[in-house]
Amino acid sequence: MTETFKGSFTQQEPIPDEAIAAAVAVMQSGRLHRYNVAEDEAGEVALLEQEFAAAMGAKYALATASGGSAMATALRAIGVAPGDKVLTNAFTLAPVPGAIASLGAVPVYVGVTEDLLIDLNHLEALVGQGGSKVLLLSHMRGHICDMDRLIAICDAGGVAVIEDCAHTMGGAWDGVMSGRHGAMACYSTQTYKHLNSGEGGFLISDDAELMARAIILSGSYMLYDRHLAAPGPEVFEKVKYVTPNVSGRMDNLRAAILRPQLRRLYEQCERWNERYRTVEAGLRDTPGLRIVERPAKERYVGSSIQVLLLDWTDKAVNEVIDRCKARGVELKWFGGAEPSGFTSRYDSWRYAPSDRLPQTDRVLRGIIDMRLPLTFSLEDCALLARIIRAEVSAVWQAGATA
Ligand SMILES: *Cc1c(COP(=O)(O)O)cnc(C)c1O
Repeated sequence: MTETFKGSFTQQEPIPDEAIAAAVAVMQSGRLHRYNVAEDEAGEVALLEQEFAAAMGAKYALATASGGSAMATALRAIGVAPGDKVLTNAFTLAPVPGAIASLGAVPVYVGVTEDLLIDLNHLEALVGQGGSKVLLLSHMRGHICDMDRLIAICDAGGVAVIEDCAHTMGGAWDGVMSGRHGAMACYSTQTYKHLNSGEGGFLISDDAELMARAIILSGSYMLYDRHLAAPGPEVFEKVKYVTPNVSGRMDNLRAAILRPQLRRLYEQCERWNERYRTVEAGLRDTPGLRIVERPAKERYVGSSIQVLLLDWTDKAVNEVIDRCKARGVELKWFGGAEPSGFTSRYDSWRYAPSDRLPQTDRVLRGIIDMRLPLTFSLEDCALLARIIRAEVSAVWQAGATA
């Protein structure tokens, strides 16, 4: 009998009861705007920022309307201007080049390796050419590169680093939290990330002036003294007349939902990793399929898994995807001709054209991607691996490379 999978790849866990109760209390108060607080009340957003800064080990934190708005705010705060070139990953998600384009700046793509990491040799060459003062580094799908080497390359070239930690909240490189290497780091709390408030995001930094600018940019209406994870008023004095208000705040309702979730972040990360390891173990040594080996220094969060069908023909990859789909397993492919769902590619972003990156194209054509929501049990994950293994093996045996 052929097994099929019945779970939903887009079904997250319910919001915890404690978070629902906190959200109801905010609604009963009527004070949903972050700066609408009663006397002696800090407000859910300010408290969340304080707790998030502490959880990440950062001096300052700002909660935002989305991960995308956190990235655009960080780019503005660091001084990116229209026409500036900003280095970023060729393998990432659309909001990353989108944040750069939203400022009228120009994304310059850095390639991806077979380990799904930013190609540090390519980065070094681009930094060496000059012309870009900022790298918006996306830890795409949670893969963290050698951050020590990356920072050394960028420091040597005078390039500031903004980290996109949408997939690495809770992760670390060599014991240093993801998001603590660059000048600023951005996170997303939309439904498919590690905390779920529907929409939302964070920005962290240790740099007082960058954070003062970011807070004003986020739309603080000069109420920055109500922030609990912000620099002192003297820093705002320096920037407040020259920094525009580009509203992108979080509200108290979302913050109320997030605070109890943040307390469980590490527990949840462990649960993702159990699922990840179960799928990985089930797929190991499948002929034609390459596991992406994780570096020993990387503490990852396995909220999704990627494997490579490297140098397979498009036809063979499509066959695997169709056969898996028929058995209830939703795989995403970064090699498709058209951007679909969440899988667009650097050549889909025609507003920011690039020369071809042949090695990157080869890798992108091979990337198979699967979500691992926490609503999947470990048995589910073992079943997913059995199905993928069987279908990849069947297509491989029939001949999958040109
Ligand atoms: C989700 C995501 C973001 C931010 O997304 P929003 O939908 O704006 O919160 C940024 N980078 C990556 C890689 C993402 O997956």
